[in-house]
Amino acid sequence: MSLNKRSWAEPFKIKMVELLKMTTPEQRKKAIKEAGYNTFLLKSEDVYIDLLTDSGTSAMSDHQWSGLMMGDEAYAGSKNYYNLEKAVKKYYGFKYLIPTHQGRGAENLLSQVMIKKGDIIPGNMYFTTTRLHQELAGGVFEDVIIDEAHDPESLHPFKGNIDLNKLESLIQKHGADKIPYVCVAVTVNMAGGQPVSMENLRRLRELTNVHGIKVMLDMTRIAENAYFIQQHEDGYSRRGIASIVKEICSYTDGATFSGKKDALVNIGGFLAVNDQHIFEEASNLVVVYEGLHTYGGLAGRDMEAMAIGIEESVQDDHMKARIGQVQYLGDRLSEAGIPIVKPIGGHGIFIDAKRFLPHLPQDQFPAQALAAELYIDSGVRTMERGIVSAGRNSQTGDHYYPKLELVRLTIPRRVYTQDHMDVISESVERVYEKRKKIKGLEMVYEPRYLRFFQAMFRQLK
Ligand SMILES: *Cc1c(COP(=O)(O)O)cnc(C)c1O
Repeated sequence: MSLNKRSWAEPFKIKMVELLKMTTPEQRKKAIKEAGYNTFLLKSEDVYIDLLTDSGTSAMSDHQWSGLMMGDEAYAGSKNYYNLEKAVKKYYGFKYLIPTHQGRGAENLLSQVMIKKGDIIPGNMYFTTTRLHQELAGGVFEDVIIDEAHDPESLHPFKGNIDLNKLESLIQKHGADKIPYVCVAVTVNMAGGQPVSMENLRRLRELTNVHGIKVMLDMTRIAENAYFIQQHEDGYSRRGIASIVKEICSYTDGATFSGKKDALVNIGGFLAVNDQHIFEEASNLVVVYEGLHTYGGLAGRDMEAMAIGIEESVQDDHMKARIGQVQYLGDRLSEAGIPIVKPIGGHGIFIDAKRFLPHLPQDQFPAQALAAELYIDSGVRTMERGIVSAGRNSQTGDHYYPKLELVRLTIPRRVYTQDHMDVISESVERVYEKRKKIKGLEMVYEPRYLRFFQAMFRQLK
């Protein structure tokens, strides 16, 4: 049986459709030029298949939509807050909940409460908003992910793992009191949606216990991480996603969460912790930045939809179809000889732009150029995860030159069909055939923070 075929399908049927506008290559050439070759600056109506992100782009279920109608829009003590709190306790096991408008709102609170100037925050590869909030709070991020994560060709099944030796040397070098917590992401977005093993989390807990250091999860894609543990880690093949998710949380002291990923909602997030003191401090700050501690910038209906989405996210059938679709696209591209990050991760396919466009030096933004070219070819919108996303070193002002120069094809949950996956693959294959003609870019506008969102480029001659 060819890898292209799968004998099972999505555990849902389609009740409503959203019509898409079809465009011509000429229209797309004009649109991307006007957008400064930055796919973030395209109008979404000019996009056919939108793989920009899996964030807030999922299709909600009929249950979630009916949850919206149950919104209790009280300023304080909304019923929906308590439903969300119940879901967080039941599925994640954390004691205290503070809703936030999305994940970065929670990162801001956590960083402001826990980080002092000069602190070190080790993490398994940086994430854009997470690192920025750590830095704004006066901290310094240190990458302690295993080396394999930086190698797009390594087949390590848990490339998100923390290298405990790297962590231990950091503790020796700076002292445990300079490290307020270790920030662990499950799965690791920037490494290509790569999971962390349960064994690694268990050993991280042991090591941090010895030194009295807290462990804070970035649990944005925890159910996807649980799926990889179920599939690939000894002793977990008979365990359900829900029980694996809960075990992951049990090795940590709290978490930031973007509901826009796993939890199948268009907006929402939270901070959850076990420590009452941290909870009190964060509850105090949330009213400054987000809203009262029982809504945190969300409408009651949003909290209800998130509570329901959390439950749907930990269903085995759902996760099998979700990651199965990503796997399907990855296998197709791989069979066609496209250089992609392996193993295939949870939320998307990451094309290795360095191998796709070896004629372009990294400071001509190969991944940015490739994303623009894919859009022109078929109207498929992808995004850059390479030198533009990595930004500049705030001390020296130089670009960071990340080892990974990737184009991310992120798959929204429950939105596209297998035929869409085929169209995407055909487009990537077509662009691969004419790859030698693809030109580099130069940056003509650069914003100060998170530049990948708004930077503008011009095509080099
Ligand atoms: C999306 C994301 C965040 C930030 O969440 P937002 O809801 O976008 O603010 C943090 N960490 C990871 C790994 C993410 O993917």
